[in-house]
Amino acid sequence: MWLQLECLVPAAAELRGIAIKIKAAKKKLEEEKLEKINVTDNDAKIMKHKDGSLKPSYNGQIAVDDKEQVIVAADLVTYTNDLNQVDPMIQLIWATMGYKPTILLADAGYFSYDNIDLLNQIGTDSYIPDNFFRVEERGKNKYFPKSMFRFDKENDCYYCPAGITMPFKWIQKRDDEPNLSQYIGDHCSICVLKNACTKAKKRIISRDPREHLMEDMRKKLRTDEGKELYQERMSTVEPVFGQMKQNRGFTEFLLRGENKAKVEFLIMCTVHNIEKIAGFLKRKAKDVKEVLQKGISGCHIENIGEIKANCADKISFLSGNGGEIGFFQLDLKIKSFFC
Ligand code: SF4
Repeated sequence: MWLQLECLVPAAAELRGIAIKIKAAKKKLEEEKLEKINVTDNDAKIMKHKDGSLKPSYNGQIAVDDKEQVIVAADLVTYTNDLNQVDPMIQLIWATMGYKPTILLADAGYFSYDNIDLLNQIGTDSYIPDNFFRVEERGKNKYFPKSMFRFDKENDCYYCPAGITMPFKWIQKRDDEPNLSQYIGDHCSICVLKNACTKAKKRIISRDPREHLMEDMRKKLRTDEGKELYQERMSTVEPVFGQMKQNRGFTEFLLRGENKAKVEFLIMCTVHNIEKIAGFLKRKAKDVKEVLQKGISGCHIENIGEIKANCADKISFLSGNGGEIGFFQLDLKIKSFFC
């Protein structure tokens, strides 16, 4: 009898724990009007991974300097896409570095008219392709892509690949976005290029009033300088998550809940930065342990300003399903690891 009771006590405690978790998950599900929730970690959201699988995940954001590969801003969010992350990441870079990036490289997930407009306004030269840019570059379009139609602002019309004018016809109203202007081909039924252009009776081209931002961006990305700059992302920001995952085995979070997972992520970013700082100091022939014990932001070390001056000049963004990281404000945390 005693033995049976001993077994039942932990089982009951386990069941109580499960019941508490389910209750908390149900409450969050109802409060936030969610369709699904992960019971193990209520804060994690179902996100699509590169292999096509759907898993409860967090979205890790990093901004990396191109010269030293230092993470100058990092965050962990529960948004399933990166569209709203440009402004907060710029604020984090600003807070950490004291100035905004001169050049910003980011993938298509960060492209939106609002983001490009914001970056133009703060004077950051950005290189961010839109979602259809690569498709068009690879020539994967079934029909003539929109880029083959030339817009004439003065006459408010498009010229199609057959050289025929497509005049403005009407406005298509939208609820949450600016209305679209629509331009329609009047001679499509007798056009020899029709099969390559449209399966509809007439080809219709829609234009967003902010579309010049995308056209200017595409022009920039197609220049030699644009191509070279964008290619740099592959060797600066892309390896960072690879190093975290492959070299340090950070493939899943050990802690649960957004706040704790964020701390875990920021610690991994800090570890990455320590390695980069160590490499930098080694090149400068400094004693890494001594420098870190004294705090990296102190003025006792010659040339420490150099690494800071190098950062945030050219920044690349990356997100991953997986951080303000105060690279220079984290000296207290760094000290605590070493003292
Ligand atoms: S189908 Fe119409 S829009 Fe397309 S190329 Fe011919 S005339 Fe121009």
